[in-house]
Amino acid sequence: MDNPQPGSGGASKREVTAESQRQQATDTHPSAGVSTGSVIRIDYTPVEPTALGTAPETPVVAMARAAYVDILRHIASRPAESGGILLGPTGSDEVTHFHFDYAGSCTSSSYSPDHVGLGRRMKGEWIPSGLDLKGFAHSHPGRLDWLTDGDLRYIRRLLRANPDMEVFVAPVVIPIEFRMRPIVVLRADMCTPRQARLALY
Ligand SMILES: [Zn+2]
Repeated sequence: MDNPQPGSGGASKREVTAESQRQQATDTHPSAGVSTGSVIRIDYTPVEPTALGTAPETPVVAMARAAYVDILRHIASRPAESGGILLGPTGSDEVTHFHFDYAGSCTSSSYSPDHVGLGRRMKGEWIPSGLDLKGFAHSHPGRLDWLTDGDLRYIRRLLRANPDMEVFVAPVVIPIEFRMRPIVVLRADMCTPRQARLALY
């Protein structure tokens, strides 16, 4: 588990977090801008790229509406930080399922996935049923709706351990505003998070 073997194809996808977990454990976020009394709104409408001033080549994340609702229901309703794994059909980039990581380590400044438990379910349950890793969703304190350097290091490790993944879906949830910002990291440029457009279906 601690030594994912790049090049081993789908098998390495089962190494959900492994070594990367240790990096995430050191990921901290500035505790900026936590406020109270925010207006809580539930917005199930996909954000259009034009509304964000993003370029036409904005990556699109196709996500089942049920998965999106599950992310908000589990993560946005809890204090930062918490998270869970995004799953979808093997061989596609679609996100169809979200599994909240109840056993993950959550503090006010970091979320560390339960790599042992998630890896066990990946091998024993999700892979056999045709689902595979598509990314992680996690929350940040305040209004920090972008990936941290620690997040990026973690994602790069998972991309290297799973050579068949071209896209890592890594939305950030902001509990105090009950919203999710869709973000992806592409294998072609693992150092630069990209604003994505959410296509719910
Ligand atoms: Zn983070």
